[in-house]
Amino acid sequence: MNKEIIYDIIGVGIGPFNLSLACLTDDIDDLKTVFFDRKECFDWHSGIMPEWSTLQIPFIADLVSFADPTNRFSFLNYLKETNNLYQFFIRESFYMLRSEYNQYCKWASQQLHNLHFKTNVECIQYDADLQHYILTVKQENSQKTSQYYAKNLVLGTGTTPIIPEFCKGMSHKVHSSADYMHHKEDYGNKKSITIVGGGQSGAEIYYDLLSSIDTSQYQLNWMTRSAHFFSMDLGKLTLEYTSPDYTNHFYSLPQQKRDDVIKSQSALYKGIEIGLVNRIYDQLYLKSRPSPLSTRLMPNSTLESVTETENGLALVFYNSDTDQKFKIQSDILILALGYEYKIPKFLEPIHHLICWDKKGRMEVNHHYAINAIENIFVQNVGLYSHGFTVPDLNMGCYRNAIIINQILGKTVFPIEQRIAYQEFKPLPEEIIN
Ligand SMILES: Cc1cc2nc3c(=O)[nH]c(=O)nc-3n(C[C@H](O)[C@H](O)[C@H](O)COP(=O)(O)OP(=O)(O)OC[C@H]3O[C@@H](n4cnc5c(N)ncnc54)[C@H](O)[C@@H]3O)c2cc1C
Repeated sequence: MNKEIIYDIIGVGIGPFNLSLACLTDDIDDLKTVFFDRKECFDWHSGIMPEWSTLQIPFIADLVSFADPTNRFSFLNYLKETNNLYQFFIRESFYMLRSEYNQYCKWASQQLHNLHFKTNVECIQYDADLQHYILTVKQENSQKTSQYYAKNLVLGTGTTPIIPEFCKGMSHKVHSSADYMHHKEDYGNKKSITIVGGGQSGAEIYYDLLSSIDTSQYQLNWMTRSAHFFSMDLGKLTLEYTSPDYTNHFYSLPQQKRDDVIKSQSALYKGIEIGLVNRIYDQLYLKSRPSPLSTRLMPNSTLESVTETENGLALVFYNSDTDQKFKIQSDILILALGYEYKIPKFLEPIHHLICWDKKGRMEVNHHYAINAIENIFVQNVGLYSHGFTVPDLNMGCYRNAIIINQILGKTVFPIEQRIAYQEFKPLPEEIIN
């Protein structure tokens, strides 16, 4: 890799979104791009991947198809090249296995020559005279740093699991859902396991552990702060909210309104896939036929503190219906509280170039840029600006098409303007002043 090159785009982080950007830009002539990730190789959430788990979106939402269905990095081409197309067809499901998605992304990443793994981006500065960014990167197992230069940055550093402050420093007994697969084998020897969090990850772990409750014989608790274990609304008219139309509409609302609307949309992106809710119920029914099961499910229960005791962990919850605190004992606590975006430390030297809103959040503009001259772009940031589809894999191509068109100053990937049957606002001529 020539370090004197000034790249048109440097991508930081190689999750699905920047991998999609790398695939979509690979065939664009004269565009110099390079991507860095500190991981060993591409790996997508393999720490929470029970073998039966599937993507929650159809395969068409792969790395490229929504922007360019003819692209060689499509999932269908992956199936063809790996001799799996007929089996996928006969299986008759739109939903690929999560492990299959990971394999597919690895396959794509292995064909690109501009992805550099085991490389941490440590610091980004801006050279105002030369008008480019200077990235300081460090290779794993090396003390030396190197510098790379870029006209545009695309930050795809992802999100990290939420761990409350009072749980920190107890990692041998308090585990994140993101590490479930690493601990799963040990769980069979435990007397009690408590899962906190009523979203998809909590539900997947509960279902997985419930499946072997009779052979393992642990007490299995599943608690959520929500008023009920709610399912995700996947009705087709609701799915129209995962469209460019709704993203544009949401973006056009005043910020305060957007903050209010996103709070009311939990069931659109935080709940449990309904098929899984039903499988959990059926499993409970089946397994409790011979004798009552040692499991508890409790909504309205907020975890307030965790203390280590001789017998494991003392977990204190608050029940918001009865207004009571209560305590349960558990060997292991699994936190499935969702993920949050953390502003990367490497941005500190260019903090002043970034636009921030009154709440200290990055101000993400319509083209997903966060600075006035529109050459720093972000992936998976801005639930408050672009709405709940920001982390959705099916909106990745849409966002990348906008970013690429913006950087190149022309329409390389046409973007659908109108796909929804419903309208999200009245026509200007219908408005009564
Ligand atoms: C378990 C799980 C299942 C999901 N399933 C679905 C689904 O079915 N459908 C859907 O639409 N969405 C799903 N999502 C949501 C979303 O798709 C994922 O969060 C997705 O991984 C987001 O991709 P990303 O590219 O933003 O970041 P990530 O996948 O988090 O990747 C970010 C990368 O940046 C790297 N990085 C960070 N900082 C640096 C640095 N300083 N230097 C170098 N590298 C760095 C990290 O090593 C990491 O590899 C799921 C999320 C989770 C957690």
